[in-house]
Amino acid sequence: MKTHTQVAVIGGGVVGASVLYHLTKGGWKDVMLIERSELTSGSTWHAAGGMHTLNGDPNVARLQQYTINLYKEIEAVSGQSCGMHVTGGLNLAGTRERLDWLKMAKARGRYLGMNLEIISIDEAAKMYPFIDKKHFVGAMFDPVEGHLDPWGVTNAYVKCAVMAGAEVNRFTRVIDLRPRPDGSWEVATEKGAVIAEHVVNCGGLWAREVGRMVGIELPVLAMEHHYLITEDIPGVIDPKVDKFHVIDFEGEIYMRQEGGGMLIGTYEQASTPWSERETPWDFDQSLLPNDLDRIAPSLETAFEHFPELGKVGIRKVVNGPFTFAPDGNPLVGPIKGLRNFWVACGVMAGFSQGGGVGLALSNWMIDGDPGFDIWGMDVARFGDWATLAYTNAKVRENYSRRFRIRFPNEELPAARPLRTTPIYDRLIAENAVFGEYCSLENPLWFAPKGAPAREDVTFRRSNAHEHVGAECRAVRTSVGMTEIANYGKIEVEGPRAAEFLSHVMANKLPPVGKLALTPMLNERGRLIGDFTIGRYEEDKFLLVCSYAAETYYMRWFKQRMPSEGVHVRAASMDYPGLSIAGPKSRELLQAVTRDDVSNEKFPFLSFRRMDVGMIPALVGRVTFTGDLGYEIWVRPEYQRALYDLLLKEGASLGLKQFGMRALLCMRLEKSFGTWFREYRPIYGPYEAGLGRFVDLKKNDFVGRDAAAREKEEGGKLRLQTFAVDALDADAFGDEPIWRNGKVVGWVTSGGYGHTVNQSLALGYIPKELADATDGFEIEIIGERRPAKRLDAPIFDPQGLRMRS
Ligand SMILES: Cc1cc2nc3c(=O)[nH]c(=O)nc-3n(C[C@H](O)[C@H](O)[C@H](O)COP(=O)(O)OP(=O)(O)OC[C@H]3O[C@@H](n4cnc5c(N)ncnc54)[C@H](O)[C@@H]3O)c2cc1C
Repeated sequence: MKTHTQVAVIGGGVVGASVLYHLTKGGWKDVMLIERSELTSGSTWHAAGGMHTLNGDPNVARLQQYTINLYKEIEAVSGQSCGMHVTGGLNLAGTRERLDWLKMAKARGRYLGMNLEIISIDEAAKMYPFIDKKHFVGAMFDPVEGHLDPWGVTNAYVKCAVMAGAEVNRFTRVIDLRPRPDGSWEVATEKGAVIAEHVVNCGGLWAREVGRMVGIELPVLAMEHHYLITEDIPGVIDPKVDKFHVIDFEGEIYMRQEGGGMLIGTYEQASTPWSERETPWDFDQSLLPNDLDRIAPSLETAFEHFPELGKVGIRKVVNGPFTFAPDGNPLVGPIKGLRNFWVACGVMAGFSQGGGVGLALSNWMIDGDPGFDIWGMDVARFGDWATLAYTNAKVRENYSRRFRIRFPNEELPAARPLRTTPIYDRLIAENAVFGEYCSLENPLWFAPKGAPAREDVTFRRSNAHEHVGAECRAVRTSVGMTEIANYGKIEVEGPRAAEFLSHVMANKLPPVGKLALTPMLNERGRLIGDFTIGRYEEDKFLLVCSYAAETYYMRWFKQRMPSEGVHVRAASMDYPGLSIAGPKSRELLQAVTRDDVSNEKFPFLSFRRMDVGMIPALVGRVTFTGDLGYEIWVRPEYQRALYDLLLKEGASLGLKQFGMRALLCMRLEKSFGTWFREYRPIYGPYEAGLGRFVDLKKNDFVGRDAAAREKEEGGKLRLQTFAVDALDADAFGDEPIWRNGKVVGWVTSGGYGHTVNQSLALGYIPKELADATDGFEIEIIGERRPAKRLDAPIFDPQGLRMRS
């Protein structure tokens, strides 16, 4: 074993093998794999080896496509067979909702270049004759599904890497990791120490233990998972039969051919975690005891839906553990506050995702950027709130819902309520319907008093529709109040604060007493943030941003801030905040403060300290509703008093409380984009319509040169607003945009503009089409609805209301 290496990859499962391979492919040859036992000794060896391209996040789906296409390449380079069978797959729908869901998956697949097809159940039964048709209403066929040999794939990656210069140390357990002053790591193993410039944790079932070596608790948990293989079934070896992978969503089972029988796996309701706190080090190519009772309900459904399967015996049962993050997607990237320490773990579908994970991580290590939009896999999407117990509750929920539909308006119950603001009980008393965001409860809308505070889950307009409409109308005609605790807040202070912020932000900083809107760009000039910066003293700034990205931003800032003169602090929960909006909001604010908040003295984009009643606050004149309005930030201990004060004073003005749903509808009426929807690292600021917030002349800043190029060349896309001729369902995101029979773009968000009585969608289309108005269609639940491109926001296009 070498004593020095550029990278020590810990873990020789399919993920570690892929990372090793991609590092060598990217040009880093001095890399080392350290595996405690034989390769594949964690989850990898006993996997069913299934692979598929579908994923709820289109960006993750893209990386899954990449993974599947990669296998031919590593087979050819290494000479090691991956045992690939690209069979195609049938996704069976047992209900109308499921068929709708499949139609939407198919639609989304269109702009990802996937060739998915909705077929009748008769057609499906011709492909897979074991189906008892009466249980199903239709199916989707995906030609790029199949299975492979897990051992073969892992070894093929490793062989390619070794051919390129990588070193592989098997039967060598890493027992400790010690940081060195120069940012490298001393990797202590059972066979001696290695100095590594970078360490990658691909510990799979032991990722938590490896994380603990550097003082972090990664949100991963292993779950037990069964599959069984039947005795031979007459007809299986018929070549017409052995082609297909099948998922029966309602039965919560997947299956494929294995020899002359079928392999049947299930995500059972009685989900069972394994080794909840610590993974034993002596668990080595081992399996867990079978518990057929636990999966019996799923098997009964399988035998009812596919009667032939129940007529033969069971040849083999496998019960093995594999890991999940709370939302089921991988954890990839550098860890905030640790130098040169990377993770690629929590990968629950290693054979669909391992290649993409390895590519993104190696790009990130080599080029400083993953090269793709991998927010859905970034380890920074979880903050300190994702504790071991939170993870446990969410992973169980996620596992048992693996084949369930997640409706766009659906809120899941596990691990709730966990974080609440001081006015939580007041909002309950007002009959608020809550959503959860980063484990924080926030009001979505208010049900009428006496009615159940519950929303029906649906792809169509729900029972919330009319009430959200009433909230929007109240804001536009008088005044509304909403809680904005779930916005991210970051304090930046110190003598070099302005210099630092000006270096990382694309717009000029505001003068004292003002707000400025600014994108944040990466070195490639792509959007990685969308901030409102408030300056209330020369050296004191409050940044308002997306709360989900707080850890991501803190990681970004810590890597780029000077060692002295700037203090950056994540402060989201220190400023819970309330917002008031609407034509009467100034009258309300004036009633509770002695400061003069007239338009002359406190114009649009003002920001300053102000006493509101007896409460010290930071007040900004801005609101996401696009109306006249204010954001009032206070410390948590004042939030109740502020809430009560505004309610009392607002009563005579007709104050109505509103929630996030109404806020998001109103921002659509104003064509305001939002982070993770319209603004993501796949778009440039000019494409996203944020060019006016990029000041190329102010000083050098991260991404300036690339932004200047984008401005000159015009980028490729344009964010546009569409008025959609919708029926009873609005777009909500990821629907294809059609023109002249071709998919030309995709929706980033959609909904109903209640105060303009119009279904609306925001989405990206090629810049060449950005002048066309008519002829667009947006596919909503399988139906192409006419859509008209709007030149300006449908509500208050001149922006007079917010400046009034
Ligand atoms: C029954 C079952 C069926 C499955 N079916 C599928 C499927 O059909 N399709 C699919 O895509 N996925 C499937 N999976 C999931 C798949 O197995 C995982 O996604 C994948 O194996 C994860 O790989 P990994 O490399 O992250 O982790 P692991 O395979 O757990 O590898 C981690 C490796 O790190 C090593 N290691 C850990 N700590 C140290 C240390 N301190 N020092 C040195 N080495 C260390 C371990 O020995 C191990 O070899 C299935 C899983 C199970 C259990």
